[in-house]
Amino acid sequence: MTRIKFFDYLLQYRDIEQDILEAVKMTLESGRLVLGQQVLSFEKRFTEFLGGAGHSIAVNSGTDALTIALMAVGVVVGDEVVTVSNTAVPTVAAIRMAGGIPVFCDVDKHTALMDLDKLSFCLSEKTKAIVPVHLYGNVVDVDKIYDIVGNRNIFIVEDCAQAHGAKMGNRMAGTFGDASAFSFYPTKNLGAYGDAGICFCLDSSLAAEMRKIRMYGLQDLYNSEREGINSRMDEIQAAILNVKLPYLPLYVDKRIKLANLYNELLNPNIQRIWVGRDVSHAYHLFVIRVGNRDEIMVNLANIGVETYVHYSKPVHLMSAYQFLGYSKGSLPVTEGLSKEVLSLPLYPELDESLVNFVCKKLNNMSS
Ligand SMILES: *Cc1c(COP(=O)(O)O)cnc(C)c1O
Repeated sequence: MTRIKFFDYLLQYRDIEQDILEAVKMTLESGRLVLGQQVLSFEKRFTEFLGGAGHSIAVNSGTDALTIALMAVGVVVGDEVVTVSNTAVPTVAAIRMAGGIPVFCDVDKHTALMDLDKLSFCLSEKTKAIVPVHLYGNVVDVDKIYDIVGNRNIFIVEDCAQAHGAKMGNRMAGTFGDASAFSFYPTKNLGAYGDAGICFCLDSSLAAEMRKIRMYGLQDLYNSEREGINSRMDEIQAAILNVKLPYLPLYVDKRIKLANLYNELLNPNIQRIWVGRDVSHAYHLFVIRVGNRDEIMVNLANIGVETYVHYSKPVHLMSAYQFLGYSKGSLPVTEGLSKEVLSLPLYPELDESLVNFVCKKLNNMSS
């Protein structure tokens, strides 16, 4: 039987194995395991990747990157932070770690992104920040959020965990807001071999705050200037990411190519997620919407095609977040999407013939 995995890092690893092993060996022999040359070099090169201006601060995970960015812009206990419930739970976990109270804006049915027509109703005197999530690698119009916010003192922190390489016009996702956060969890468009993440911002004093927060709030070796956490990226993960970063544009191109192939081969009656006119989608995930989603998922699994759902339980309906006071019906579009969305296998090394296979089967199932 054909077996099509949803994600398989080993295919990519085989291509770059020698360079990875050499980089890890060199790092282990360097005598420095945290915040050394590899991290510095990766930070510099990631900033280059985003266009060259600004500052990158390498941290331990995407969740930490968001937490640190929110702490740095000044979120404290009791501040409201507007985001979406149609996201990975770490978006919300990070807001809580920073002390914020998540306020959920419903999403647009077609793009699955924050519905900017509903955003102004989510703002209050207590709103300190907004976290737009560039879900699936699709891009939220952050400029429009600034227009909506007007001259209120609200910071925008982009969740770019799924959007490495996504663009609006020729600007990279992650460079629109006051700060942004990327994850290098192994499945992401740029994946480490363990946990890692990065904060990015254009403002140098904000970057200095993030650098302090990353390491106990230390200004120098002996004095914590503010309260911080420990979230350093280690040298080994940075060395691995340094090997992989040059391939990122190529990886994203391959994702786009495979997504285009899905779009070309799938029956037009199968609903897609809409992409804005100026948006270059980074296709972390290729998502379709189908009414009989659970049935299709089982049928695909039975012929060896692994699929996932992003996300089947909106965060506001999870047990852990009941205290926020939302319930079934609070966010109708988000809840509706959670019953329809289905993510198909997509990674740079996926063979086109397998995409062909998936499409043929899916077309039969949905006709
Ligand atoms: C993966 C992900 C994160 C968290 O990243 P980690 O590195 O796993 O902590 C945050 N937000 C979104 C949307 C994600 O997909």
